[in-house]
Amino acid sequence: MKNLSIDPERLWDDLMETAKIGGTPKGGICRLTLTELDREVRDWFKTRATALGCTVTVDDMGNMFARSAGQRADIPPIGMGSHLDTQPTGGKFDGTLGVLAALEALRTLREAGYETFAPIEVINWTNEEGARFAPAMIASGVFAGVFTHDWAAARADRSGETFGAALEKIGYRGPEPCGQHKLSAFFELHIEQGPYLEAEGKDIGVVTGVQAMRWYEVTVTGQDTHAGTTPMPRRHDALLAAARLVQVVNAAACKHPGAVGTVGLLEVKPGAPNVVPGEVFFMIDMRDPDPAVLDNMENAIAATADKIAAELGVAIAIKNIWSQPPQPFDADCIAAVREAARVSDFTTRDMISGAGHDAAYVARVAPSAMIFVPCKDGISHNEAEYSSKEQCAAGAQVLLQAVLDYDRRLAERYGR
Ligand SMILES: [Zn+2]
Repeated sequence: MKNLSIDPERLWDDLMETAKIGGTPKGGICRLTLTELDREVRDWFKTRATALGCTVTVDDMGNMFARSAGQRADIPPIGMGSHLDTQPTGGKFDGTLGVLAALEALRTLREAGYETFAPIEVINWTNEEGARFAPAMIASGVFAGVFTHDWAAARADRSGETFGAALEKIGYRGPEPCGQHKLSAFFELHIEQGPYLEAEGKDIGVVTGVQAMRWYEVTVTGQDTHAGTTPMPRRHDALLAAARLVQVVNAAACKHPGAVGTVGLLEVKPGAPNVVPGEVFFMIDMRDPDPAVLDNMENAIAATADKIAAELGVAIAIKNIWSQPPQPFDADCIAAVREAARVSDFTTRDMISGAGHDAAYVARVAPSAMIFVPCKDGISHNEAEYSSKEQCAAGAQVLLQAVLDYDRRLAERYGR
């Protein structure tokens, strides 16, 4: 089935057009989930999908499903997609490529008059990034039964607004209870967000699974006092303790090859130049393919935190708010991606995803796999993030072929 080809120009035009919604002066996108800008890009997506003859439904977590009918209406659709929200200083490709490439793949099918066996759906998952509402991938998490709807809807951003209220405000709380939507399979195209494909000159990453991840909230409580009159020995400086802990997180990760540990969010209170910080809140992100390594890092951090707390006379509370075990992808879906790359004459490399993705949760309830394309210097979650037109097109082509391959497998299974 090599005759169906996606249109690289059309895909690129869509990427550049949607990049204007929340576009930043440095060429990135700031399109935080459930904001007015998110509503705008959702409207864009809905309009385009409807024009292709899709029926767009929305569940009560704001997940969008643009469905194109197949020969059999009684079989759950094959889904393909990703997310349209971005980090505060995000790039043009993270997430967006997966949704727009899926749209382009569907457009290619419609224009060719190709009728699939199963229905096909383009999916936009809500709040993949977790930048505004923690944790990340919250809506695909509810979809997979990892979180309850009510718990997720009650998550608040740092200003106190809840996910549920924000979803309501932009008009994207649909009637369908999240998680009741069945899928025959799910394919997600994404930029690699790492350096391997580019460094090895490979076109396509065949993603066989996602590594284990954990998030922690840390609150350090000291005492806010006058910066001019409080002698150094009498201070209980919460930020000093936090600074030392940040180093501990880094050291714990460096001890294990392949492991990563990051503090990317930190808030200092009361936040005045002449006040010794009395309270600091920060978050830790740790990842490794092996959960035992994460246990080891967690224990090392906790033990050193106790020492730092005693030394500086502060209290340190560390709370694990999110744990994801390693998630292997489905063998048939992986085979479909591999075959798709082969028929398209692309070079491939098997890989484990270092980043979390919606597909990792969806994989718990439907056979899933991911396709990676290279991105320049492995840079992502950054306004400089870049994949070329050709790289984006290669990913979209493999996505299309993988879905068709899987559709053929389904047709055989159901005896057409
Ligand atoms: Zn992403």
